[in-house]
Amino acid sequence: MTAEIRSFQAQTRKLLDLMIHSIYSHKEIFLRELISNASDALDKVRFEALTNPELASGEHKIKLIPDAENHTLTIVDDGIGMTYDEVVDHIGTIAKSGSEAFAEKLKGAGSDAATPDLIGQFGVGFYSAFMVARRVVLETQKQGEPEAVRWESTGDGEYSIERIPKRERGTQITLFLRDKAVETPEEAEDMPPNEQDFTSTWTLKEIVRKYSDFIAYPVVMDVEKYELEKDADGKPVEGGTSKKVMQEETLNSQKALWTRPAASIEKAEYNEFYRHVTKDWQEPSEVLHLHVEGMQEYTALLFVPGKAAFDLYSREPRRGLQLYIKRVFIAEDVAELVPEYLRFVKGLVDSSDLPLNVSREVVQQDRLVGVIKKHLTNKILGHFKEMLANDRPRYEALWKEFGTCIKEGFHYEPAQKQKLADILLLPTTHGTGLSTLKEIKERFVEGQAAYYYLTGDGREILEHAPQLEVFKKRGVEVILLGEPVDEILAGILDSYDGTDLKSAAKGELEGLPEDASAKEEKAAQGEQFAELLTRLKALLADDVADVVLSSRLTDSAACLVAGEDGMSGHLERMMRQMGQAMPAQKRVLEVNGQHAAIVALRDLADRDKQDERLKEYAEMLLDQALLAEGAPLKNPARFARRVADAMAQAANH
Ligand code: ADP
Repeated sequence: MTAEIRSFQAQTRKLLDLMIHSIYSHKEIFLRELISNASDALDKVRFEALTNPELASGEHKIKLIPDAENHTLTIVDDGIGMTYDEVVDHIGTIAKSGSEAFAEKLKGAGSDAATPDLIGQFGVGFYSAFMVARRVVLETQKQGEPEAVRWESTGDGEYSIERIPKRERGTQITLFLRDKAVETPEEAEDMPPNEQDFTSTWTLKEIVRKYSDFIAYPVVMDVEKYELEKDADGKPVEGGTSKKVMQEETLNSQKALWTRPAASIEKAEYNEFYRHVTKDWQEPSEVLHLHVEGMQEYTALLFVPGKAAFDLYSREPRRGLQLYIKRVFIAEDVAELVPEYLRFVKGLVDSSDLPLNVSREVVQQDRLVGVIKKHLTNKILGHFKEMLANDRPRYEALWKEFGTCIKEGFHYEPAQKQKLADILLLPTTHGTGLSTLKEIKERFVEGQAAYYYLTGDGREILEHAPQLEVFKKRGVEVILLGEPVDEILAGILDSYDGTDLKSAAKGELEGLPEDASAKEEKAAQGEQFAELLTRLKALLADDVADVVLSSRLTDSAACLVAGEDGMSGHLERMMRQMGQAMPAQKRVLEVNGQHAAIVALRDLADRDKQDERLKEYAEMLLDQALLAEGAPLKNPARFARRVADAMAQAANH
């Protein structure tokens, strides 16, 4: 059988190059990565053995074999193994999105000390072997395959792959370590030798203890022991000699961390475990460790990451929790255990009640899984509420990362809307910070009977929206909903704690404190503006439902508002951007009877019923109102030309 030589993809090559030439410290983490892969492979075999007894064989352990003489370190597992195609797919290729993002980060990270921890994050763990090895040889046998596979590479552009005679199930990875003693001078110059000796049993023990202690399978190594001479009964002979023997020693405690009482676990242990589960290099911001008894017995160990993952909002991010049943690993990424909007929560659930022989499909439909999900959701939301009450700065930091995701809850679980509303932090016209709905209510002015909000494209635009003018004048605070997801929130959350939430850009402004003088004034104006309003309405009939005098505006000439049950202009635009066919919704154009421009238009309309200019001005009014909301104009060039013309006329006076 001859070996096939293949080239790494450009992406992989780039990454390997970075790995070899840019990372100098903490190289020891390569071992964590390889042990973690072996542990995953053992998880898979253990799970499949539940339905395929053939796979139950084996010791389910990970063995380290250092060889100081030949400068190699070999890592052996009796896990699931790989077929020829799997080696090509998994070892020859890197998931594209991950490696690109990784390479970017690696380049961006100025300090070398920060870089190595990035490795685990993007699913490029195996390649970390090349940080310490000149050459890597992988041999692997999958159960039931007629042959094994041998893969080999020096990490420079190419690898070879061939079929080899059948061997024991599992994977064996041999690293030919970069070592002063074996480097040629050119090699040594190109790749600095390792500072640590990875064939030293002491070093290996330390690394395993530090990074892989909780791995559920024994990580073993043969170590030298001195055995005293013993008599026939197995008792040491007094004054006898001692001889050197090799003895297999287990290096990790293997304690499934989550089964230990929370009080006995150190923060560093949680952090290392979090890293193992998520491959995130940063510390988690929150740890929730729950032991639940009663109707349902399970343990959950949940983490909120410190930062939102780069793919949190992409279409198919990895989501879900790991599922264990009575400490046996069942499945990765079980999406059914947490609701979609809490997908940033990572970790695991270990249930005592689910049947061990479940298949993935069964898990998806199991009622008990649904019960756990509901329970966890309550726990998580409850935890957030407590944080908000007891440690506002920490909650604000969490909200900054995941608030947008949490708000999606209004869409996915409208039934939870009150609980979600309790933990909302929202920007408002009051100051620059974020407020809870409770705090906003405490600032209601006398006579105010509703919360007001405005949706649109970001806080900046919203703050200056003409629709807010009357609120500013009367000192009424308005919630500024500037994110796309806020439209969903506004659509679902119609009241909080018995008080309605109303759009500042819809319908009559019920719930605002009465302003008797403004009301009288408006009634008086009605008469005077009747002619103008009728003409504007006729001229703009294709675009607006009505033209009325505004009670909202104090400084601007015009704005658009929707009917009480209508859709906001912002939502309409969003739906269109998402490719939804939206019939154009006609809104109401409100004009400000106090504004000099409107007064002038009134005079023009009264003076000359035929004046052609009124049509042009009507269109300009509508365009202005659209522009102020950040909405696109039908004909922006025409609007620009008209403004310039108006300027010329005004300046000539
Ligand atoms: P990740 O583990 O993050 O997916 P790696 O580059 O470390 O990325 O590994 C790529 C893939 O190669 C793994 O997902 C797995 O499918 C396979 N693999 C790696 N090591 C082993 C192993 N010891 N046994 C079986 N499969 C392995």
